[in-house]
Amino acid sequence: MEDRKMYTGDWTCMECGASIDSLPFEPRDPSTLTCRDCHMKNKPTRNSDNVRRIYVGDWKCCECGTKIDELPFKPLDPDTVACRACHRK
Ligand SMILES: [Zn+2]
Ligand SMILES: [Zn+2]
Repeated sequence: MEDRKMYTGDWTCMECGASIDSLPFEPRDPSTLTCRDCHMKNKPTRNSDNVRRIYVGDWKCCECGTKIDELPFKPLDPDTVACRACHRK
């Protein structure tokens, strides 16, 4: 069983210039690679940018009546909440 395939190459960290000779994935764009140290440093800020807020509640779709228990926004008027399928219509 081989669960960790490493790709080897000759890359450079775009942030600190350290050389990178192996990666757990094949880089699509080698010019944007960062070494493990820089990657770890950047992680918290990158993550906070990507965090999607989810509001949990107990709503019903105003069109089809489907139960909705989470939304990416806080509904101003719960009576007009539509499920994802109806929202797209
Ligand atoms: Zn680096
Ligand atoms: Zn619906």
